[in-house]
Amino acid sequence: MKFIKNLIKESKKMYNENNIFAKILRKEIPCDKVYEDGFSLFFNDINPQAKIHILGIPKFPCDTFSDFLKNADSETISSFFKSVQIVIDDLNIEQSGYRLITNSGEDGGQEVPHFHIHILAGEKIGRIR
Ligand code: AMP
Repeated sequence: MKFIKNLIKESKKMYNENNIFAKILRKEIPCDKVYEDGFSLFFNDINPQAKIHILGIPKFPCDTFSDFLKNADSETISSFFKSVQIVIDDLNIEQSGYRLITNSGEDGGQEVPHFHIHILAGEKIGRIR
């Protein structure tokens, strides 16, 4: 148990509270909000790569997908992923299709160190490389 608590502490130490999405969550800088509930916030990407390009972030402080899955509780995790589907339903893109992306770490090309999911839709999203 102590080992697990130390692991969680180590992970928390790595989270950078000054990242831009942490600032958006603290309302220090604005965002173009699409959906929000107690666990999650969704907003339009400032530099859209498709007609629809939304970012979804959990309010839980975590830098990557793995950090989120390892350290958030089950309700927080399930609520976040259910809210992804709520946004998909709100946008009415389930039939036409969409792509979900999460970039993690250096090799994944992650720029903002707060776990986020990109929702891309509204047109054909090309092949991955
Ligand atoms: P990633 O490379 O997966 O970390 O993606 C970071 C994304 O955040 C990029 O698509 C940026 O365009 C987007 N982004 C950065 N700053 C903002 C902001 N202030 N509001 C909305 N999107 C942002």
